Amino acid sequence: MVPLPRESALKFTEGVRAGWLTSDLIAWADEHLIRPERLSVRGSDRLRYVAERDFGIVAIEGAREPPAGKLRSMTASHVPHLLDVARQHVIEALRASIELDDRPFVHAALLANRVVRTREPSGASLWRVKVGEETPLSEMVLALFAADALEHPEDYDQDLSVCEECGAVTLTPLPNGSRKGCPVHLFGGADHGQPVRRHHPHGGHAFGT
Ligand SMILES: [Zn+2]
Repeated sequence: MVPLPRESALKFTEGVRAGWLTSDLIAWADEHLIRPERLSVRGSDRLRYVAERDFGIVAIEGAREPPAGKLRSMTASHVPHLLDVARQHVIEALRASIELDDRPFVHAALLANRVVRTREPSGASLWRVKVGEETPLSEMVLALFAADALEHPEDYDQDLSVCEECGAVTLTPLPNGSRKGCPVHLFGGADHGQPVRRHHPHGGHAFGT
């Protein structure tokens, strides 16, 4: 049974927020990504490398060097940082969709054929994620959100919220209707009556927030 795209996407955003390591990424990929109908890894049954735009590409332990390309090849010790950058790219795209009252990440995923309409054996048609190993990790996660948004557009138009305080992504409506909060911080960064404080996972400057 393939987990639903929403479950897979939220597992990533919320897991990385809590501090994923390489082993968590591998477990998530095994359970949520590596399936013929989502991510097919040629000639292998496991994740061999992971890439992120504006960051680099990392070979997962035991795998050969990733293909040479535009991305900088980095060592496995960079995976937690890569995960943070990928999550930050996802958060930015979701925030933009709330601010623009549109879903640019869905259009992008459709344009890149990372979500496709398929017909199930039962006759029902369904949006599915279709990504390759070279797809940046954030684009994989955004494709999962896009497939979910195409099935449940009203949840993304009305309920999607990205917390300004902690970066949590929620798709269940908050009691006050906020789109910048989470169940813990109902009013996002404004609930202390203080200037918005951003979440800095490693101290210093948070990416793009
Ligand atoms: Zn929060």
